[in-house]
This record gives sequence, C-alpha cells and structure tokens, in this order.
Amino acid sequence: MIKTNVLKHIKTLVLCALVMFTSCKNNDTKDAKIMTDNILLQEWTGPYGGVPAFDEMNVEDIKEAMQKGMELNLADIDKIANNSEPATFENTIVAMERSGKELDRVYSYYGILSGNMSTPEFRKIQSELAPELSEFRSKISQNEKLFQRIKAVYDASQTSSLEADQQRVVELIYKGFAMRGAELDAEKKKRYAEINKELSTLYTDFSNNILHDEENYVTYLTKDQLSGLSDGFIKSAAKIATDKGQESKYAITNSRSSMDPFLTYSNERELRKQVWTNYYSRGDNDDEYDNNEIIAKILKLRKERVGLLGYDNYADWRLQDRMAKNPENAMELMNAVWPAAIARVKEEVADMQAIASKDNITIEPWDYRYYAEKVRKQKYDLDSDEVKQYLQLDKLTQALFFTAGEIFNYDFKPVPEGSVPVFHEDVKVWEVTDKDSGEHIGLWYLDPFARQGKRSGAWATTYRSHTTFDGKETVLGSNNSNFVKPAPEEAVLVSWDDAETLFHEFGHALHYFSSNVKYPTLNSGVRDFTEFQSQILERWLSTDKVINKFLVHNKTGEPIPAELVAKIKKASTFNQGFVTTEYLASAIMDMKLHLADPTNIDIDKFERETLVEMNMPKELPMRHRTPQFGHVFSGEGYATAYYGYMWADVLTSDASEAFKEAPDGFYDKAVAKKCVDYLFAQRNSMDPAEAYKKFRGRDAKIDALMRDRGFPVPN
Ligand SMILES: [Zn+2]
Repeated sequence: MIKTNVLKHIKTLVLCALVMFTSCKNNDTKDAKIMTDNILLQEWTGPYGGVPAFDEMNVEDIKEAMQKGMELNLADIDKIANNSEPATFENTIVAMERSGKELDRVYSYYGILSGNMSTPEFRKIQSELAPELSEFRSKISQNEKLFQRIKAVYDASQTSSLEADQQRVVELIYKGFAMRGAELDAEKKKRYAEINKELSTLYTDFSNNILHDEENYVTYLTKDQLSGLSDGFIKSAAKIATDKGQESKYAITNSRSSMDPFLTYSNERELRKQVWTNYYSRGDNDDEYDNNEIIAKILKLRKERVGLLGYDNYADWRLQDRMAKNPENAMELMNAVWPAAIARVKEEVADMQAIASKDNITIEPWDYRYYAEKVRKQKYDLDSDEVKQYLQLDKLTQALFFTAGEIFNYDFKPVPEGSVPVFHEDVKVWEVTDKDSGEHIGLWYLDPFARQGKRSGAWATTYRSHTTFDGKETVLGSNNSNFVKPAPEEAVLVSWDDAETLFHEFGHALHYFSSNVKYPTLNSGVRDFTEFQSQILERWLSTDKVINKFLVHNKTGEPIPAELVAKIKKASTFNQGFVTTEYLASAIMDMKLHLADPTNIDIDKFERETLVEMNMPKELPMRHRTPQFGHVFSGEGYATAYYGYMWADVLTSDASEAFKEAPDGFYDKAVAKKCVDYLFAQRNSMDPAEAYKKFRGRDAKIDALMRDRGFPVPN
C-alpha cells in the first residue's frame, strides 16, 4: 500500500559470474595440506546438508583461501577446455556447472567479512584481492579453447535441440561469454582484461571511501539537544555514544537508519542541517576519500571497454539481456512517471510551507522530512511513532513466516540453539520445510542489527542455492538489516517503512527458497526482474490477516485499532512525490551518466547541470547522490540498472491487481500458485517477459503503478 519499496538494495547476484566460472577438485598433496589447514576451503559439515563454519571463520585465512580457490578453479577450467573428446553438453556445460565448489564456499565467508563484519584489516586484504579476482575472471572469460567448446555446444543446439532448461543454460552461458569479450582478438582481449582489473580496484576504493565517511562523521548531541526525539531513539543513541566512548552523550551515526528518524523528529534545525550535510556529502568531502575522480575514471573505462565490443555506450551493452532490452525503453518508463512525481513534490512543499511559514522558515532539504511528518499528522492525523508501537520486530518476523505459510506452504522453525554456527550472537537461524510433506527446503539466517563494520541498508543473499543436477542441494538464504539494537529489555520497534523493508528482503529469500531449477546458472537473476519478488511480498504487510494477527501493541498486547489502520491506508499515497522523485532522480542520473561522453567529465558539474535540466525540485536531494551511489559505482550490479526497481514495480502493481481481483484477494490459492510457479520458482529458466504473460495472460501495464502512487493515470 505505501510504496517506499523502490528504495531497497540487494546483493543477490554477486556470485552469478562465479557460479558460472568455477572448477572442481585437485588432489595433489600440497593442495591437500591447505585444504585441511584452511577451514574456509573445507567442505561444509554438520546438519542440513552441511553448513558454513561461521564460528571458526578467521580473517587471517581469507586471502590464502581465496587464492587457493581461484587456483583450483582455473585448473579445472583447463581440464574442461583441454578435453580431447568433442564438446558436448555433458562434458562442457555440466562440467562447468559442477566446478568451483571450493571458491563458492570461500565466497560465502568473504561476503560476511565484507558486508557484515568488515574491519580495516579485511578491507586491506579486499583491496589486494580485487585485481587478482579480476585477473582470475578474465582468465576464464577469455579462455579461447573453453569458448570454442561452449560455442560448439551452442551451435549444435541450434539444429538439434536440448531439453528446454538445458537450452536456456547453454544460451545464457554462450551469450554471457560473448558479452564479456570472448570473441575479441588477442590484443583487444588484453586491453579488456586490463580495464577490468583497473575497474575492480576503483570499485573497492569507492566502497571503502563511503564506509570511511559513514564511520567517521558521527554527530554527538548533548542532553539539551534532544527535543522532538522519541524515548526509544534517545536510549539507543545513548548506547551507541557510550559504545564509542562518549559517555553521557547521544550519537547520530552517518547512516540512513539514524539520519532518517533524526531528520523526521528533531526540533533542532541547525543540527538537522548538520546531520543532513554529513549524510549527503559522503564521498564528496574533497579529501583523500572523495569519490568524484574515481567515478570519472570508472565511466571512461566502462565506455572504452564496451567500445572494444562495438557498442556505443555502456547502457546499450548492459541492457541487451534485461527485460527493458535497451536504455530507450527504460528512459521511456522513467520519463512517463517523472512529471507526475515532481508535480506532486510541488503540492507537498506547498502543504509543508503553510506550516513552516508560521516558524518563518522556507523549506530546505533538511526540513522536508520534519515538515512532511507535521503534514502527515495534520492531514491524516497519523503519528508515525504511534504506528511504531504496533510494529515489533519479533511479531513481524512471525508475520513473514505466516505469509510464507499461506502463499508458499512453508513452515519456519528455529533450529536448536548451537546446532548451526553463526558469525555473531545476534544472528538467528530457522529451518524451512514444506508444511505438508515436511520436506527440508533450507535454512534462513537473520542478521537484524546495525553494528560497526556492517554495511548500511538491508539486503538478502545466499550461501548456497537450490540445484538438483548433481544431487539435491538445499538453500541457505539470509536476510540482513540495520535496525538499531534496543537497550536491554526493550522491544525492537520499527517504522512502517522498515517493516516493508523486512517483507521486501524476505521476498528475495523466498525467491531463493522456491527455486526449482536444475542447473546453477538458472538461479541467476535478471536485474530488472529480481526486485519483483521482493516488492510483491511487501503487499502482504497491509493485508487484514497480517494486521489483525501480528500488529499488536508492544506494552498492552492490544491489536492495532481499526481507525489507525484506516489512517495508514488512507495515507498510503502520502509523500509519494518525495519518494518517487528522490528515487527517479538517482535512476535517471545513473542512465544519463552512462549515456554521456565521459571525456573530461566533471562529475560534480554534470550532476548539478543534469538536475537543473530535469527540473529537479530544490527541496530534496537524489536518494543516492553520485559520489555515494554504491549501487552503480561499487561494482556493476546496478550500473544502468537502478531503473530496475521501477521496472519491477510496474510488474508488482499490475500483479497485485491480479490478487485484488481474485475471490480470496491476496490469499487466493489459485493466483498464489500461479505467482509462485511462474514468477518465483522458475528463477531464470524462462524469459521473464514470457513468464509474466503466463501469470497474467497479458503484458504488464503502467496504470496500476500510477494508481498505487496516487498519480494521474495516462490516457
Ligand atoms: Zn530488493
């Protein structure tokens, strides 16, 4: 109902290249020694088909393990490439799918050390490994003999066809190699690899600069500066300050989960400005951690690299295997929504200004959230803090399980204490089974709280994905968020927005758990489709069943009053100008940066001028300003792909109407089954556009999205 759902991040696809490009075992004695000594390379043992030994994980082991993992990989790729038998699906494609178990395992630890438990020590190792990893990937993607064998299988499949899923695997692998330069001549290949190596270092530097600025700009408040803030917020701010050695002060950290509530409630305008400025200046402080030069270099290298393949710009190259197909289609969608979004901002600002004028204040960006909250109370009589009293993390987690039970027929049970190793005491684990058959589906890890060294935001990832081609592998999926850990004995109360995020990330997890694919490559995602599953899950938060069962007051246990629910629903299109505009500004900027000529580009100037051209309202910033746009510049996952959230949201709104039109609404068994079968379980084994048509009987239309946001529906 409330669509702040364009906002969340994931990192589901970090491994897709690795899953494709990995190798198998090597038995010489030196290897055997490292294999026994280094825990990170070892096979996962214990219950549930084996689980990562997170409790024995050690940062000292990671470099050696990664290097050994890569070496084992390459050895096996060579074995596949040098096979003297003619290339077949079995000896080439299946062999590739089977390869690389060791590196996959190490990568799970690597992901934890970089995302959940980062330290300066690890970041140094990460910087050292980045170019090595890049070289490693190039060695596989540019392996001429390997590519010739893949091509032979692909060519043969064009005349005598394989099983449908095998055909899809071959095509994805063949096209993936071609997209990554496998058909280039030797000289161009060399340059291609050099560029990737340079980029990998720039990506790491970019992320580390942001992390530096997030950790090093903390605003400490004194007791007389707390006006407007809630008790819960004050308590946790006090705890964070104490943990940082600032006894009797209150810490506002430079993260979204601290900044956002502070700007919404604090009556101290100068402090709001300071917290706002710290947050939106990350990576842009004109010091050694400034990202502007890095971005210019990244854009030049990306353009040069796709030029080697004959593409005019990065966006054309990137979007060829996405649902949108090309940048024009993506821009068309964004341009269709943009005018309605900025027109709504004008209305929102006018509403806020009417209140602010009484304080002799002209709305500035650090005032938007504060006065929006006042308008929300006045117009909808909705107090976010009152809503929060009914949103307890524990109950919401139960609500996730309830939804999964109704729609996916899953049961979640906590694993016996101590039976599954975790990397931090805050992490909890549940076993997922089928409600009827009791069949084991996987484990769900939840790491809920913010801590030093954990990246900001919320995300989902897998440590192991479902496959059956080589015996059944069950799923190890995880959700990660940054709720502020409460003082002891306090319930974890979250905002409506945070509750939606919780459902969102759980949608990604259900996408992993429901996979029915045979081959690992078919678990890969299509970027502008992989936010559909998460965004649709958010819709269950505001269904009656969830509201009545799980939204109960943290002190009295009373269910949330019907009037309050009615107010929440009525306010569901509130602030959509802000939400849509801050998101779209970033998404359009992402695309324009990659369509522009990067020679002599001045990032700061480009951002400023592009925003003017777009008629960006001056009262709010982009959700991610360019120097901190990690989606786009800390790797390539979301480069020219940030639009994908809205692309997927068109599907989400349209699919939601299919539920609403059904006899049992969001709990309609027939629609739920179709949704799971076509839009979840298939993963990438079917073209997403085709899968959507099978679900809905037609293509998705933009109208439902406009209705959901309270914007006029175009004729
Ligand atoms: Zn997501």
